[in-house]
Amino acid sequence: MPELPEVETVRRTLESLVIGKEIKDVSIFWPNIIKSPAQPEQFRDALIGQTIHGIGRRGKFLIFYLDDYAMVSHLRMEGKYALQEKDTPYDKHTHVIFSFRDGTELRYRDVRKFGTMHLFSKGEEESQQPLMHLGPEPFSKEFTAEYLSSRLLKTSRKIKPVLLDQSVVVGIGNIYVDEALFRAGIHPERIASSLNEAEIKVLRQEIVDTLSQAVEKGGSTIRTYLNSQGEMGMFQLELYVYGKKGEACKRCGTEVVKLTVGGRGTHICPSCQKLHD
Ligand code: ZN
Repeated sequence: MPELPEVETVRRTLESLVIGKEIKDVSIFWPNIIKSPAQPEQFRDALIGQTIHGIGRRGKFLIFYLDDYAMVSHLRMEGKYALQEKDTPYDKHTHVIFSFRDGTELRYRDVRKFGTMHLFSKGEEESQQPLMHLGPEPFSKEFTAEYLSSRLLKTSRKIKPVLLDQSVVVGIGNIYVDEALFRAGIHPERIASSLNEAEIKVLRQEIVDTLSQAVEKGGSTIRTYLNSQGEMGMFQLELYVYGKKGEACKRCGTEVVKLTVGGRGTHICPSCQKLHD
């Protein structure tokens, strides 16, 4: 699933492709992707004549800003946007097509069909699901060590599932949580409230640094992720533990192992990340 760096990369490439384009028509081949309004026809009718003025991101969600509406789109497992000329053939995995006045089309393709789109009147998107209960952005000034500490100290859950909880902080998924915990030297099964102030400070910084370095590299291409221009990310080359089971830890040479934490496959270096001293 794309995480913050991949969604941010998609946002940037998409913005360079579709800003200023006016929607002439919308074709919906798999209506279940449209979560609101309830009727896909209402979604289509609202969008006709609207121009895309900007594309934002909140956590792992893309937000298309139009004249009167905001469209919130989640790619989930395999969703992808691509801009194409209207005569280019498309396959059965293309579920929504936004046709522009200039003869190009923004096509949403999703092999797994898990992606979602919500359309709101502009300004209402942040106060409704799916955005309303999201925690702070990791790059925002709200995401301080004090804030993180306040969230960690009141839970007896393990640190990894807490960091994956989008109401605590947004944008982190299974790749970057394993990387940030490795870089902070924290075992993913530590109880969140057992982390001391110094550890929380380091952890917050490693979350921010890992995500921002991944954004700079265009995200990580694991499995099928590509940006909206069909390009791979390069951060997978910088990963320390994710997907590295059986390889030598880049810091100490110990073999990276895979565990299951909170039901998720989890990679650690048992020497760099100790559960007990
Ligand atoms: Zn190590």
